[in-house]
Amino acid sequence: MYKGSCLCGAIHVELHGAISDIIHCHCSLCRKNSGTAYATNGFINTKEFKVNDPGNKLTYYEFKPGKKRHFCSVCASPIYSSNADNPEFLRLRLGLLDSAIDERPMSHNFVDSKANWDDLDAEIPRYPTFEPSRL
Ligand SMILES: [Zn+2]
Ligand SMILES: [Zn+2]
Repeated sequence: MYKGSCLCGAIHVELHGAISDIIHCHCSLCRKNSGTAYATNGFINTKEFKVNDPGNKLTYYEFKPGKKRHFCSVCASPIYSSNADNPEFLRLRLGLLDSAIDERPMSHNFVDSKANWDDLDAEIPRYPTFEPSRL
């Protein structure tokens, strides 16, 4: 079982199944919604997903008819997206997971829409925490 939570901790989720088709999505919707270069999403089975939201903080933005992005109304963490045409599956935002997972991303998608400063193959330094120059 995988567990996850939003930034403020108001919403906890449990996944009692596997995640499939994990991608790094560089489309403009995911960029704007996340405020970052890309969002990492995967399909989960709706029946295997449990949202624990005792304070009723989960809300959504319907970005296209029937397509909703669900997020925490306190801290704005993206939780998952849903599609009314395909209710048996949800798209989970993997960044909210606290568990280590067995599955791995399979691709970078919508790279034609990626930000022009996002260089997928850039050889830039990697640090375990903040960059050393950060005060
Ligand atoms: Zn929250
Ligand atoms: Zn996207």
